[in-house]
Amino acid sequence: MNIKEKLEKLKADKVFKLPPVIDGASEAEINIAGKKVINLSSNNYLGFANHPRLIKKAKIALDKFGVGAGAVRTIVGNMSIHEELDQRLAKFKKEEAALTFQSGYVSNLGIIQAIVERGDLIISDQLNHASIIDGVRLSRADKAIYQHNDMVDLENILKEKRSHYNNVLIITDGVFSMDGDLANLPEIVRLAKKYNCLTYVDDAHGSGVLGENGRGTVDHFNLNGQVDFIMGTLSKAIGVVGGYVACSKEAREFLLNRSRPLLFSTTLLPSAAAAIIEALTMLESSNEYTKKLWDNANYFKALLLEFGFDLGKSETPITPLIVGDEALTIEFSEQLLANGVFSSAIVYPTVPLKTARIRLMPTALHTKAQLKKAADIIYRTALGLEIIT
Ligand SMILES: *Cc1c(COP(=O)(O)O)cnc(C)c1O
Repeated sequence: MNIKEKLEKLKADKVFKLPPVIDGASEAEINIAGKKVINLSSNNYLGFANHPRLIKKAKIALDKFGVGAGAVRTIVGNMSIHEELDQRLAKFKKEEAALTFQSGYVSNLGIIQAIVERGDLIISDQLNHASIIDGVRLSRADKAIYQHNDMVDLENILKEKRSHYNNVLIITDGVFSMDGDLANLPEIVRLAKKYNCLTYVDDAHGSGVLGENGRGTVDHFNLNGQVDFIMGTLSKAIGVVGGYVACSKEAREFLLNRSRPLLFSTTLLPSAAAAIIEALTMLESSNEYTKKLWDNANYFKALLLEFGFDLGKSETPITPLIVGDEALTIEFSEQLLANGVFSSAIVYPTVPLKTARIRLMPTALHTKAQLKKAADIIYRTALGLEIIT
């Protein structure tokens, strides 16, 4: 098939989509096609993406450092603001060192392929994020997949395979992005010690959300210093762009020499680094942002549960509303948009067949009135489609 035929097939299969155009900043209400709707789809958990304090610091950095870093980090793109950001991230995550990348996606690609090689094994949770899957594919290590969060399955793989490999890396999301459930990190860390493995947690949806002052899932489980690689993104709760890994000083220096996105792709914008540093300052000095997020999420989820919706296994602000049927879920999402609520329809192959869902993201930006209004619209729309009765 050529591209044109492939595109026709996407349309025939009813999976073709173009992204909506948002006119303005990421806020609790957004304008789409001239219409104001309640935004329940963004990862801007704490409202930092358009926060005046971050904007102010970014502007100062723009004047001092310019719009671009000018080179890859390992040549001459490593500005003082990038070093400062790495140090601040290490401190925030309570780890020895940290290293930033251009995005969370790029971090997973660049870290995983650098830290394992032929003769090593990666053991990965079945529901890990696409960027982990791509990072695993790029590495020369063998891979094994364990059933989602199934520690018996993980241990069975370790029993069978550990002795055949040099290094074994166990990788998991900290918070699973489609269900909002948490990895069983205490057990993963215990098994990793027992079988002498390295551990890697992708905490894209945990940092800024869980743990003391939003330090993340590892902190939530009191496992600081016990996970080898804690990867995170700076684009979700932190509100800007970029990714990082918190790790040992040796691992950081090794990655600076061997991680391909650092060697072959230009460094993060200096203004982004400045805005991120301000976000960390805000998180470290107050828990008002994370508190507001959880308060809103708990309020919103309680409303939906009262209406009788199935919220799956969610333990975090990520609120999946399980519908089941794929076409019905897409119809639901379209009607919600027409009725004033922007939600994401998540269908196969992102989630297993017949577990299609609407994913809703309450944030610290929403007012209770907006969340109540959205819950009422969701309820009425679902009744009309007989998703609930
Ligand atoms: C969003 C996400 C990423 C990618 O982060 P970006 O900074 O947007 O590239 C990686 N891993 C997980 C689990 C994510 O949810």
